[in-house]
Amino acid sequence: MRPEDILRPMPSGLCSPLGDFHIDPTRPVERALITHGHSDHARAGHGAVLATQETLDMMRLRYGANFAGSTQAVAYGETLKLGGVDVSFHPAGHVLGSAQICVAANGTRVVASGDYKDVPDPTCAPFELIPCDAFITEATFGLPVFRHGDASAEIAKLLRSVALFPERAHLVGAYSLGKAQRVIALIRAAGYDKPIYLHGAMETITRYYVSRGIDLGELRLVRDASKAELAGTIAICPPSALQDRWTRRFPDPVSAFASGWMRVRARARQRGVELPLVISDHADWDGLTATIAAAGASQIWVTHGAEEALVHWCTLKGLEARPLNIVGYGDEEEEGVSADGSSSVPSPLEGEGQGGGSSDDPPAKPTRTTPTPNPSPQGGGEQSGAV
Ligand SMILES: [Zn+2]
Repeated sequence: MRPEDILRPMPSGLCSPLGDFHIDPTRPVERALITHGHSDHARAGHGAVLATQETLDMMRLRYGANFAGSTQAVAYGETLKLGGVDVSFHPAGHVLGSAQICVAANGTRVVASGDYKDVPDPTCAPFELIPCDAFITEATFGLPVFRHGDASAEIAKLLRSVALFPERAHLVGAYSLGKAQRVIALIRAAGYDKPIYLHGAMETITRYYVSRGIDLGELRLVRDASKAELAGTIAICPPSALQDRWTRRFPDPVSAFASGWMRVRARARQRGVELPLVISDHADWDGLTATIAAAGASQIWVTHGAEEALVHWCTLKGLEARPLNIVGYGDEEEEGVSADGSSSVPSPLEGEGQGGGSSDDPPAKPTRTTPTPNPSPQGGGEQSGAV
């Protein structure tokens, strides 16, 4: 059986004609299988949703109890029969509950990875390699310049700065779902045991992580602290809050940003980031190419990011590869902040996370809904819109 008979790209996302479902559909469908809770993959309004318990919970937190007609939780490794195919979910190492979805029929396996990373993350199950015939990969950092290095070395950089400037507050911009909690866990792993402060938009999802057994130490809300109390502390906030008047409540804040894009110095400069931290929840170039090689698939389909470079690499390796050009998958690392720092579309999670927050917390955060153009890692010559 050909992989296209098992899964095929449609304008609405990856569709399984034999199984009568979509994976991460970009518009409402009757039956959706969801890889993870980020808003460009997990949308509200589907009839039936099949996902891990954590992803279903995150969708509930983000969209409310009625985000789908019905839901079903699936455990990692469990195999379900849907129409003419077998489906199973496997850890993607991206965020808590994230899964690659394997769809198999007549001995042919297609794996849709959603977003993934192949490096350790204390807040989620490690990426699992699924041998397959066709592998559907993202390419957010699909250029050789993107090598993220060791996240704990970046955290060490942050902690050195905290020690060096005991009167200043350190504000770390980090995406609210996944990155923020991973940064906190990495700070704890480095031995920092003082309270860590949270922006109101982080509260709901971070408490959820804690409820799932992820130990994040003592957490406090920025809004409950005085300016004097915030001297010498670390606070985690959505990236866009770094440019907000919200930062005025901190004494002489140091602006840090945890993102794979911080590998591009021009991006850090452009956003006024004093302390760039190269920490990504996506595979870097080495991770993408190593995973593709190890999966043993003869066909590679690339869904979003720097598709062309990765497709080219695959072709050089003798693999059949093509970009899928599905419109709608974005880049959560940027959290929808445009080049000028302004926001456009409100994100339900951010709005909800601020519930009960003080009135001078920033307005609801945006979320990107269009694909990110290729980055220009050399800096200086970034394409318009490639924030
Ligand atoms: Zn994601």
